[in-house]
Order: sequence, then structure tokens, then C-alpha cells
Amino acid sequence: MAAQFDYVLVGGGLQSALIALALHAEGSSASVALVEKSARLGGNHTWCFHAGDISSAASAWIAPLICNRWPGYRVRFHGRERCIERGYAAITSERLDRVIHDVLSAKEGGRLFQSAAAKSIGPNRVELEDGTSLEGKVVIDARGPGSGSNGRAGYQKFVGLELDLAQPHRVDLPILMDATVEQTDGFRFLYTLPLSPQRLLVEDTYFSNDPELEREALRAGILDHVAANGLQVKRIVREEEGLLPMPWAGEFQLPHTGPLVAGYRGGFFHPGTGYSLPVAARLAEVVASCAPEELFGKALWDFARAHERQASFCRFLNSMLFRWYPPHERWHVFKRFYGLSVETIERFYALRLRPIDRGRLLMGRPPRGFSPRYRLARGVQ
Ligand SMILES: Cc1cc2nc3c(=O)[nH]c(=O)nc-3n(C[C@H](O)[C@H](O)[C@H](O)COP(=O)(O)OP(=O)(O)OC[C@H]3O[C@@H](n4cnc5c(N)ncnc54)[C@H](O)[C@@H]3O)c2cc1C
Repeated sequence: MAAQFDYVLVGGGLQSALIALALHAEGSSASVALVEKSARLGGNHTWCFHAGDISSAASAWIAPLICNRWPGYRVRFHGRERCIERGYAAITSERLDRVIHDVLSAKEGGRLFQSAAAKSIGPNRVELEDGTSLEGKVVIDARGPGSGSNGRAGYQKFVGLELDLAQPHRVDLPILMDATVEQTDGFRFLYTLPLSPQRLLVEDTYFSNDPELEREALRAGILDHVAANGLQVKRIVREEEGLLPMPWAGEFQLPHTGPLVAGYRGGFFHPGTGYSLPVAARLAEVVASCAPEELFGKALWDFARAHERQASFCRFLNSMLFRWYPPHERWHVFKRFYGLSVETIERFYALRLRPIDRGRLLMGRPPRGFSPRYRLARGVQ
């Protein structure tokens, strides 16, 4: 006999966690099973987002996940430094694990299957490796990134080190991009989050055509950068890495029936940043607003169509970035972007671009580095 649930969420990462929280916030009495192959939910991440990325309703139910909040952030380029006074926040895997445990264990009809890998996923049925069967009115497959991008993408790739320092660092706000560093392997920048007075998360990030991650070199680069700023590292607390596709082709497609492939695997991410939290939160709101039997209906379709309209424009931006600009010139594109209005920057990250934002992004002289020769060499018509 299969255990019966309203929702079976497969993959205990960001997307499933947000759906569980959104259902909880709606006061839903629906039964929810969450299946995660690892012993812990949420993997090894720090997820950040801009306050403007999510609705005010979602801000309230995401709040328990947030470990750090800042009132703004900085960017640095040769010839441009700017402080953007818009909220920024961070979530950690540890916090997500704890909060989702609490939510599901307090919920009648909530079940957590951990260290339990799904073997097969059907429209209404999930078989686990250990032979357990689960049935759901809705099955949501959120097992994280699938098998790649067929080469039709650039990549945001990074290694991040969380560092305990021997002295206070005096970094008051996150530095989202410090692109004054040497430009190698595409657009390169350092990303710094001040987590506490003596703790920093520093990531060495590249927007590159090449998915190879040279971990050792990146680690060394981060430690050199920290030392060059006069800071002494006491301990490396944690390390994380990412290889996020930034596609320039393809189309987002929503199936007409279950399982709903959600999160990164389902294409619910921002092609222009590789980030998924804003879209995952919006999808969670849609799921929580529908009865499980009515999920594949108008609200989901409207959301999916709106997402594809935004995503296709960002794929076009990626096409320009990765195929019209030689790697070492790409930073000019971002320098120009950060000269735009705060509202346009905010709506870009939120993936809620308006026609006026698209105009601002595309009109005027192309940023320095635009190269018809590079473009032709990469086979662009
Ligand atoms: C290091 C890193 C940092 C990132 N930072 C940000 C950020 O700051 N902001 C942002 O918006 N985005 C960020 N992203 C991008 C994106 O938001 C994350 O990848 C996000 O975790 C994707 O959510 P998801 O739920 O689709 O997949 P995941 O969070 O990866 O969750 C998938 C889960 O499914 C589980 N699973 C896989 N197979 C099975 C199976 N057969 N059975 C059961 N469980 C299974 C996995 O163990 C995993 O826990 C980051 C990505 C990485 C890698």
C-alpha cells in the first residue's frame, strides 16, 4: 500500500522548502511528504536575494529562513563605484534544514523522508530506493539542476570560502561585484558578504564560456585577496562552489500534467544571473494558492508564460554577453548596467523587467568591447 498525500515534494532543496513554507503560510491543511536523498535538507549553500525580488507576502513567510540582512550593497569597477540602497538578505542551508524540519514536524499530515532517494517519479506516484511507495494528488520533482545545457550556455562559476578572521574586517555592506580584480576566464569579480564582524564569505566568480572550475587557483585567489586587504585568516569555516548555467538558447516548457518539474530542474531560474530564489518563491506562491487537484490550471499557466517572456529576453542578453564580447571585455557590460537606475537594476534581479527597462538595457552605444569580429567567429547570424 502506498502512503497517500496531497503533495509529494521530491528533493529537499530550496524549491521544495519554499513550497512547504508557502503552504504553511496559507494555513493549508494539505498533507505534505518531502523526500530528500541526503541526511540533511538544503545541501551546502548560502542563498542570497534582493528585498525587491519577492512579494511582501513572501517576505513574511521567508523571514524565518533569513540569517543576515543588509540595507544595501556595493559594486566596484574601474571608473565606477556605487552603493545601491536596496535590501539584501542571506539564507543558509543549516537554517533551512532546521526551519523545514520544524514546519513539517508540527504539521498534521507532514512527513519527512530523509536519506531516501526517489527511484522513479510519476504523475501521482513516487517510488523510493528502499521500496517505499508514495502517492500524491500532486507530485513535484525538484531534484535540482539536471544534466546540463547542451553547450548552449555560458556559466556563472565560483568557489566561496567562509572565513573566520583574526580581526574585525570593517566591511559594512555586501560587495556584490568587485570587478577591479584581474579579468581572467571571462568576466571576473569577487563577491563579499560580511556575515559578522569577524566573518566574511568571499567568492571568486566568473561568467565564462568554459564550465571547468579550477578550485585550487580560485581558493588561492580568495586568500590572496583577503591578505591584500590586510586581513589575517584564522580558520576556513566552510567552502561552497557553484556552476550555474546561463543559457542563451532553449525554451522554458511547462508540462500539461504532473509531475510538476520545479526549481532549477524545471527551468524556474533567472537565466541572466543563474539564481533561482525569486522565481522559486513565486512558483511556491502559485502552488500554495491552488487546490492540489487544480494545480495545472490558469494561475500556473499565467505564471509560466510570464516567466518565459522574461527568461527569453535574458537568454538574449546572455547571447550578447557570451557571444558578442571577448571574455576580457565583458566587465564593461556590467559597469554600464550598474550606471542604470536603481529601479531597473532591481527589476532585472527580480526578473520583472518592464519594456522601459529593456529599452534602457539595449539602447545607446554598446558598452566598450562590443566586437563584430568576435561575434562572427562564434557563428552568430
Ligand atoms: C553554491 C550555490 C550558491 C547559490 N547561491 C544562490 C543565491 O545566492 N541566490 C539564488 O537565488 N540562487 C543561488 N544558487 C542557484 C540556485 O538557487 C540553487 O542552485 C538552488 O539550490 C536550486 O534550488 P532547487 O530546489 O531547484 O535545487 P536544490 O536546492 O539543489 O535541491 C535539490 C535537492 O534534491 C535532492 N535530490 C536529488 N536527487 C534526488 C533523488 N533522486 N531523491 C531525493 N532527493 C534528491 C538533492 O540532494 C537536493 O537536496 C546557488 C547555487 C549554488 C550551487
